[in-house]
Amino acid sequence: MITSNEAFHLEHLPRRAMVVGGGYIAVEFAGILNGLGVETGLLYRGPLFLRHFDRDLRDTLAEEMPKKGVKLRFDTRVDAVEKRPDGSLALQLGDGTRLETDLVLYATGRRPLTRDLGLEACGVGLREDGSIIVDEYYQSAVPSIHAIGDVIGGPELTPLATAQGMALASTLFLGEKRSVSLENLPTAIFSQPAVAPWA
Ligand SMILES: Cc1cc2nc3c(=O)[nH]c(=O)nc-3n(C[C@H](O)[C@H](O)[C@H](O)COP(=O)(O)OP(=O)(O)OC[C@H]3O[C@@H](n4cnc5c(N)ncnc54)[C@H](O)[C@@H]3O)c2cc1C
Repeated sequence: MITSNEAFHLEHLPRRAMVVGGGYIAVEFAGILNGLGVETGLLYRGPLFLRHFDRDLRDTLAEEMPKKGVKLRFDTRVDAVEKRPDGSLALQLGDGTRLETDLVLYATGRRPLTRDLGLEACGVGLREDGSIIVDEYYQSAVPSIHAIGDVIGGPELTPLATAQGMALASTLFLGEKRSVSLENLPTAIFSQPAVAPWA
């Protein structure tokens, strides 16, 4: 199985692919693969994908994606993936169904890899999921250690990480304390059709 990292380095386009996950990355990659002519399915364990987004957009997308060819399956758990002698993959689903495919892409979320850095030994606080606890000016419990971006938890978005970097630079080097508000964050999902909800 692969993640979105490996998806950009595939040597061959598979004939069939199954994307597992219900976030925007799962939705986007299902659209990309389908657009490239791959027979694509998306499996999600919850009742409807894009959990934190507006309900009307989620419903509309769930109607529109199958029209483009993506087969959606919600309330579906993957129990096992088995490689067959011919190289194809068999997915064993929670309800007993078996699906055949040639590529499985997991897009079920990422966790900060902070556990083996010795941060806790320094006194930097970590949450259960490994994200670094900082105050509103991105300072950790150790005054000389700051953190910004995905690693502090919260919405994982490039412009947010960039803005936090600029705010921190302003605080540290210009003497103007700045913080980035998480209210009204615009975002887009590059699905087909594309949608633009508020995060
Ligand atoms: C497939 C995909 C699609 C996405 N699409 C969008 C999008 O359309 N729009 C959007 O806004 N956001 C998108 N994101 C999210 C976006 O990529 C992140 O929010 C953003 O990159 C966060 O920036 P960052 O600097 O916090 O972390 P990162 O960009 O992840 O940078 C962290 C860096 O630290 C390095 N690193 C890790 N551990 C160590 C270590 N121990 N020592 C040294 N270096 C280390 C990593 O290699 C990496 O280069 C997407 C993410 C993915 C995975």
